[in-house]
Formats: sequence, structure tokens, C-alpha cells
Amino acid sequence: MPTNLLTENQTRKLKKLGINSTIDLILYLPNKYNDQTIIQSIQNLKIGEISQIQAKVNDVEVIYRPKKNLVLHVSDMTGQMQIRFLHYFPSQIKQFQSADLIRFYGEVRYQSGYKEMIHPEYNLVNNLIPLSKNLTPIYSVTKGLSQGMLRKLIRKHIDYANQNGLFSDLFSDFYKKYDYPTFEDAINFLHEPPKIKANNILDVQNSKHFKRLVYDELLAQQLFLRKQYNLLKKNQSPKFKNAKLSKKLFLEQLNFTLTDSQKTVLEDLQNDFIKGMPMNRLLQGDVGCGKTVVATMAAIDCVEEGFQVAFMAPTEILAEQHYEKIKTWFKDAAYEIILLTGSMPKKEKLLAYQKIEKGNANIVIGTHALFQESVTFNNLGFYIIDEQHRFGVEQRMMLKNKSKIKQEYEPHQLMMSATPIPRTLSMSFFAHMDVSTIKELPGGRRPITTKIYLDDKRKQLLNLIDEHCKKNNQVYWVCPLVEESEFLDLETVSDTFKELSGYFVNQKVGLIHGRMKAEEKKEIMKKFQQNKIQILVATSVIEVGVDVPNATLMIIENSERLGLSQLHQLRGRIGRGEKSSFCILLYKHKLSSAARLRLKTIYENIDGFKIAEEDLKLRGPGELLGFKQSGIPTLRFADLNRDSKILEVVRNDADKLIKEQDKNINEHMKRWLRNYEEIVTT
Ligand code: ADP
Ligand code: MG
Repeated sequence: MPTNLLTENQTRKLKKLGINSTIDLILYLPNKYNDQTIIQSIQNLKIGEISQIQAKVNDVEVIYRPKKNLVLHVSDMTGQMQIRFLHYFPSQIKQFQSADLIRFYGEVRYQSGYKEMIHPEYNLVNNLIPLSKNLTPIYSVTKGLSQGMLRKLIRKHIDYANQNGLFSDLFSDFYKKYDYPTFEDAINFLHEPPKIKANNILDVQNSKHFKRLVYDELLAQQLFLRKQYNLLKKNQSPKFKNAKLSKKLFLEQLNFTLTDSQKTVLEDLQNDFIKGMPMNRLLQGDVGCGKTVVATMAAIDCVEEGFQVAFMAPTEILAEQHYEKIKTWFKDAAYEIILLTGSMPKKEKLLAYQKIEKGNANIVIGTHALFQESVTFNNLGFYIIDEQHRFGVEQRMMLKNKSKIKQEYEPHQLMMSATPIPRTLSMSFFAHMDVSTIKELPGGRRPITTKIYLDDKRKQLLNLIDEHCKKNNQVYWVCPLVEESEFLDLETVSDTFKELSGYFVNQKVGLIHGRMKAEEKKEIMKKFQQNKIQILVATSVIEVGVDVPNATLMIIENSERLGLSQLHQLRGRIGRGEKSSFCILLYKHKLSSAARLRLKTIYENIDGFKIAEEDLKLRGPGELLGFKQSGIPTLRFADLNRDSKILEVVRNDADKLIKEQDKNINEHMKRWLRNYEEIVTT
């Protein structure tokens, strides 16, 4: 920032607001506007309306009942009223006593026979100071940086930037084509919109001026991600032919046929493999749509060409489950399939390392232990990451670097998401990837009846559990953990476990939670899978893709604490078999309105795509994708629901600019991506 325009103290205060550069400051938009363009007469003021008056002070009074207040008696030509301050500085008394005229802006109330404003904004004026023709910006401020001060600072920097052409338009052709104002005009408008053009923040956000910022912001995001995409595609990767025969054999031993959607997606993957450049694809679809089998079939192409496949899952339970399943699927093939997880005995691990390094292991399934220091692949050709959102950026980085060792090739990469991702999200935040979507569930959606109960119906629930158990079905009882109070919640699961074990003496009740050793967890899951445990009390560790088709009832305690996608994931653990299933959401009294909305959404919807759309509306993309700390730039102005049309246009424009190698691309990204230097070098 230009140091001559700011004191050190101001710089520090701005930092507190997240403002670190001139452009940050200029783009720090008001969160509302005051209409101080007109003055109303006291006589005509309406109770409850926000208005501005211009009055002289007749008397300044400090009253002590009920509390110490400062009260001004003011009047204009038409009448008189009171202004009340509940907090004030002694210096203000003098200021008011000696004032000529004051403009007060605030809500009009009625108090013991008088019109009154409490804590209005005010300006000392005289008759010569004209009224503004523009709305007055109100910024969110911080202690020690007043509204007026911030207003001045922003104005100063806008003028400075304009005079020095700091942010002159880079892509005028596009801006003209869409009839957007220049950046300079847009910024002037957004900070102080002319009253004749806008009345409030909604008008402002619907204006061309605001859309210009939305466009610029999305353009920066798309340029950044599409450049990454293109860069990756410049690398070389091994080509894998479609191994038709092996796939035919694979399909013959499956006890189901692929859905059309699965077939289409498999073709996407096959097409990526023959291009000689790395696959960089996101495979998404609703819970239970059958991503695993598609990824596994793609792996065949890789193994048949003599390359290794790595299949990484976020938890040991899930890795183990994939391992068992994939081993069965390939029982007739001469593939060596191995498991590698952190909790395996050292000896077994060493053996696994060897097999991986020598290239004997064709398919390696595991947790992130797969990409530890000591693991070196002989020739990794394809890696699959299940439930990609559960891996942090660092882990993904490690994986990327790891996978390059000992080969000139970049391996193909397939990410899988746990729940559906709305189209606008995949178009924006996943622009650095190709995206394939499995659109249907095998055999259609099996019915799940969802019910919402207040948490005082335990007795009835016990009967319900009993019914399911009598039919030899299985039951999940979920007690979600909340991070801050893990101990407390652990008690809840243990208590519930004891309660249920005491009641159901003829059924085996199991307990599983995150603090157990991996071995123990596996043992429990195995027993549940084999129906040796019929009722499983669990924390949200079972959230991830656990697959036990015989489970038909799920009870979720404290469901109001869980997010939409978590609830959807959890519920997706039932309704996997032929029998109809039930999900009971228990909640505690006093639901917040957000929680109410979440439960309503889950209750009314079973389609993961719809739920994801709602989730996006409720939480916004940053939260939804969980990359608050991931370094991926979030969006400040664009709203993916509202601005989806702009997004489509921007994607095309970004690709065009990159193709033409436009010289202004980097400058635009520098302006718009907050941590540009950081993210471009990592
Ligand atoms: P997700 O996409 O949520 O990871 P999975 O891959 O775990 O789903 O598949 C869910 C279940 O459906 C698994 O038991 C899987 O074997 C089975 N499955 C997958 N594809 C089909 C299909 N086309 N027909 C029937 N069952 C299928
Ligand atoms: Mg899965």
C-alpha cells in the first residue's frame, strides 16, 4: 500500500478487517447504505421509519433516570423532538451546545409524547453544506477506525488508484461486449451510488456495476484454475488401451450389471487413458451410486499395461472394505492386490513396501499411509482418491510429489467425491478438473422413510428397534461427536451403548467410536458386516462409505448438530438392500432456525443433488467444500446461485484468453487473487 496515504496505526487497523493492499481497500464494499439525500420535516416524520432531519439544538440535558442518558431537545421550523444517547463522551456535550445545525439520521420512535431518535448518526453542518445526491456507505468497522475515517481512507485510495491508472481495464473487449462499466466507474458507484440509480443494497447488487466485479472475480478464479488445468495437461502420461477382454471377464463375475450412467462415466475414463496426457478427473454422484466399481474397472486398463494402481481412502475402515471387495471382484484374475494402512504390523508394512517398490503389487489399497516417505512405487500409472474432500491440501501435495518419483510420467488421477456437487460449484471450484457425474442409483432409489422426533421418545424407539431386529435386520444408533466437547460426547455414546445392551439382552449390541484403536474398529465393523453385531452404536466414524445392505434402521441423536451433507451421508448407510428402511432424526428442544431448515431439507428430500443445492444456498461454497484453510481462493462477490449465467460466460472467456496467451492474464490474477504470490508458487 502507498505508505504516504496511511499511518502505521491505520495500516494495522485495516489488517484487522482483512485489508492488506490498495485493491483490498478499494474492494471493501459497504454492507449497507444510508439514504441521507433528503431532509424531512419533524412534523412529517413517521414512527418506525428511518429518516434524516436537520435541526438546531435548543437544550442539552443529562438525565439520570432510569440510567444516565444524554438528551437533546431539537427543533426545526415545523416542530420539535428529542435525541437520546445512552453512551456518550463528555466532549460531546460541549459539541452539541455550541453547534449551529445538526443533521440527524436514524429511526424515529415515540417516547412519552415526543418523537425521538436514539443514537442517530449525526453531522454538524451549516446551511451551506449541500445534501449528498448519493447514498451514504456504511462499512463494517473495527475498534479505533470509525465510519468517517474509513470512508475517507477508501475515498483517498480510490482517487489515488484512478489518478495513477492502477486498475485500468485489461479486457476492454469483453467489458464492452457485456456492457459493463469500467472498473473505475463500478467502484465509484458501489461505494456511493447515486440515489436516482439505487435505493438500497439489493439494487446495488443487481446493478451492472456490481456484476462487473462478479465477472472480474470469477474471471480470476477461472484463469487461475484453467491455467492449472492446461499446465497439467502438458505433461506426459502412459497410454492405456481399453482392456476389453479383461473387463468382460470382470463383468461376468459381478452379480450386477452397470447402470447406463456408470457405463458413460467409464467411457470418460477410458478416453482419458488413451490421450497420453494425465487424467485429472473428478467423479461425483450421489451416495450409493456405485463409484467404486467404476474406478476399479478403469484400474484394469492400467494394470493390463503393466502399471500400478493406488487406491486411497480416508479411513482404515473404508480402505479395508474396498480391499475386501476389490479382492473378491478380482478373485479369478492374476492380479496382486495389497492393503497398506498405518495400523498394520511393521513386518506386514515392510512386506507391502517391497511389493510396491518392486512392482509386484498391481493394485495397492490404503489410507494416506500409501504416500509416506518409505513408500516408493515402481511405476505408478493411476491413482484414485476416494472421498477427496477429506484430504487436506498438504496431503494431496505430498501425494502429487510422491507419485512422480522414479518415472518421467505423470500418473493419471481420479478424485471421487462423497456426495454430489452442484453444477455451479463443479464449474467454478473444480474448473481445474474434468468432471464426470453418475446420475442414477443402481436399481433406482430404495425407499427410506425419514421421521423427525423430539428426543423424548426413547421407549417407542426401543420398540421400533425390536421390530427390526426380529426380522433379522440391523440397526445403527448414531451419536454425533462435536469436536470441542469430545469427552462429554464420548460419555453419551457409552451411555447409550450401556442402555441398549441392558435392554436388548438377546441381540448383540456393538460400540464404535473414533478413539478406539484401528484394530478394534475393524473388528467391530467386520462383526457388523457379518451380522454378528445387530445393533451398532456409533459416532460419525461410520459416516464414510460403509456398506452393510442388511441395515434398515438408523437413529441419529442430536441430528440438529449435523450439516446437510453429513446427514445425507449418514442416511445413505441404510436403504442399500432390497428391504425398506427408516431413518429417525432426534433433536433437542429449541432448534435454531438454521437447524430447523436443515432437518426440513433432509426430511423432504432424498435426492443428494437437491440436498447439495440447498446446502450451497445455506452454507456457501467455502464451507461446503471445506476449504476455508486450504488456500483455494474463495469468492467475495459472486454468488453461485445468483450468478450462474455469468459463470458460464466467464469459463468461455477464460479459456479464450488462455488460448490466445493474453498478456494481461497474470496482472488480472494478481489484482484479484488475494494470496496470489503464495498460491501461484505452490
Ligand atoms: P458410492 O458411489 O457411494 O461410493 P459404492 O461404490 O459403495 O457407492 O456402491 C454402493 C453399493 O452398490 C455397493 O455395494 C456396490 O457394489 C453396489 N453397486 C454398484 N454398482 C451397482 C449396480 N450397477 N447395480 C447394483 N449394485 C451396484
Ligand atoms: Mg464410496
